[in-house]
Amino acid sequence: MIESRCGIMCSRCDYREKMNCAGCLNIDKPFWGDSCDVKTCCEERGYKYCGQCPDFPCETLKAMSYADEEGDNGERIENCRMWAKKEKQMLIEKASKIINSRTASSETGNWETAIAILALIDDNGFPTASTLSMAGADGVNEISFVTGLGANKVNRINKSNKASVCINSGHYNITLVGIIEVLTDAQTKKDTWYEGCEHHFTSVEDPNYCVLKFTTKRYCIYIGDEEIEGTL
Ligand code: SF4
Ligand code: SF4
Repeated sequence: MIESRCGIMCSRCDYREKMNCAGCLNIDKPFWGDSCDVKTCCEERGYKYCGQCPDFPCETLKAMSYADEEGDNGERIENCRMWAKKEKQMLIEKASKIINSRTASSETGNWETAIAILALIDDNGFPTASTLSMAGADGVNEISFVTGLGANKVNRINKSNKASVCINSGHYNITLVGIIEVLTDAQTKKDTWYEGCEHHFTSVEDPNYCVLKFTTKRYCIYIGDEEIEGTL
């Protein structure tokens, strides 16, 4: 998908054949000079392309893109934006698949492997983390848990609905920040019940059984060597 550091589509460049250029990502120095300021800067900062840079689009990139000669009137900047958007979507989809596959109600998950870390604000105003099985999820958007109505977690949520969920392994770390609510309606309880709940509750009708529904507001996702942050 990514064809250059600056956003130029090397595959569509006339110089590729004319100058026998292997493309920006495959060469150490450009055919037209000793170095390219953008390529050097991007590579020194450890980015694959400028769209990953917090300073994007910087003055150097803009000057190059809007130059009278050899400029492209911002096209390469737009390409960087498009690549960044696609990368973000792909990583969110990957994270969603991971979460969905780990919930207790999924085909591959079970309550013992569905563990996530849930942090809530305690009575002293500090975040307090504990582990809990994820009952179900709608990818990175929503995650549900079950607990007892008399549990500390419910008391904390009643005082502050701010929460954070972390799902991780050796290969990824997904941290979500958002709000959480306690649900006790019969339909939600029925829909959320999973094999394993019977270890804690007599049945779906158990008055102590309730559902915690977490809704994501912002995320920080790290999978393999890719990392993104954003809001939903
Ligand atoms: S202008 Fe620089 S960064 Fe852009 S494609 Fe050419 S060598 Fe790569
Ligand atoms: S946007 Fe500018 S500062 Fe950022 S990597 Fe590209 S050239 Fe360097």
